[in-house]
Amino acid sequence: LCHPRYLHVLESLLEPERVIIFRVPWVDDKGEKHVNRGFRVQFNQALGPYKGGLRFHPSVNLSVLKFLGLEQTLKNALSTFSFGGAEGGSDFDPKGKSDTEVMRFCQSFMDELFHHIGPNQDTLTGDIGVGFRELGYLYGQYRRLTGEFECALVGGRNLLANSNLHAEAAGHGLVYYAKHVLADLNRDIKGLRCLISGSGKLAMHVMEKLIAVGAVPVSLSDSKGFLLDDEGFDGSKAMFLKDMKSQQKPLREYTRRYVRAKYFDDARPWGEKCDLAFPCATQNELNHSDALAIISSGCHVIVEGSDMSCTAEAIDVLRKSKIIVAPSKAANAGGVAVSGLEMASKSNQMHWTGEEVDTKLQELMRDIYQKSVAAAAACGHSKDGPEALVHGANVAGFLRVAQAMLEQGCV
Ligand code: NDP
Repeated sequence: LCHPRYLHVLESLLEPERVIIFRVPWVDDKGEKHVNRGFRVQFNQALGPYKGGLRFHPSVNLSVLKFLGLEQTLKNALSTFSFGGAEGGSDFDPKGKSDTEVMRFCQSFMDELFHHIGPNQDTLTGDIGVGFRELGYLYGQYRRLTGEFECALVGGRNLLANSNLHAEAAGHGLVYYAKHVLADLNRDIKGLRCLISGSGKLAMHVMEKLIAVGAVPVSLSDSKGFLLDDEGFDGSKAMFLKDMKSQQKPLREYTRRYVRAKYFDDARPWGEKCDLAFPCATQNELNHSDALAIISSGCHVIVEGSDMSCTAEAIDVLRKSKIIVAPSKAANAGGVAVSGLEMASKSNQMHWTGEEVDTKLQELMRDIYQKSVAAAAACGHSKDGPEALVHGANVAGFLRVAQAMLEQGCV
């Protein structure tokens, strides 16, 4: 890894291959005109066609998307599939917009983006603010413009729906990854108290899987604060939360039905007692002071669901306290893994049941965990050392991309 040729690869890898920035004009329901900015950062294609998320959120800018594009490149490299990495999105905020406003925005966004994507060029999937609704509208416009059914989008309700698990994959994979970390510490996940942040697509599926494996998730959050149910969420509470979310009700509504639960305004859950923590909202959501709080809360393992949940300062503090951090690029790679499976099964005209995909997802998460541990061991880390998994995932992902770049003369 210290060989000078890798320094040149690193220099080249840090620069995205292509950045597309475009204007997205759209009209709201009152007839007023708006303009947002659209982006696609096509980061690295050495391993295969670009693949990565789309984020619609007011905080989206080029800097955030470049960081997410690099993370996606390394994450895709950790999977057994051959995908390059990309990320895109817009500073458009779908929150509070009607379905027709979101539809008009998505159509305008795709009017430009369709020139740059395709199944052999770049495939898109959801991220913050982009779910079934947005992916459906984006796909409709892509299909109308290209006349192609071959899909450049994955993760929508009927897109590549030849397995039954795409939407759940990242969240369920995160819990499988946590189980591997715990197994190497001779611990079982059953009965462990878990903090989750976020209450979007990822967080809800993490909660659902934690309940299924017998763990006790006790918190969720949104951009206004966090919800704590000390007795733990169970199947019927999860159903209630899902219904609430589908009606776009705020998280605090839960406390009207479950009166012993509490909602804390403008706060994050990291000071609450726990064994495991699953940050699943957004990048840098666990900072230096949150790290100090989580150490006092009794937490042993942090499993990053959101891409790079912990700041560098937080990682530093956590490492000194011997808290294990499972890095997002490995732990949340379940979505990549399942879309790789879906693409393979589609080209073979196969349909897999949910159970079959779940079994494969478990194998893929085990493979990613083992690859990270092996790369860390090669660099002299013991597998239960606090930084082994972060270091191992970076090294294993980087080496696969670097090898391809060197072979192809990309540096
Ligand atoms: P969603 O849009 O479905 O949900 C995002 C959640 O995070 C919401 O509860 C939102 O609260 C909260 N949130 C967003 N921004 C902030 C913020 N700045 N401060 C506090 N809370 C915030 O997104 P996803 O669940 O899809 O994604 C969540 C994270 O997981 C992202 O970092 C994404 O990159 C990562 N991820 C997701 C995958 C997936 O398959 N969904 C796969 C891999 C990674 P509110 O509703 O109030 O805005």
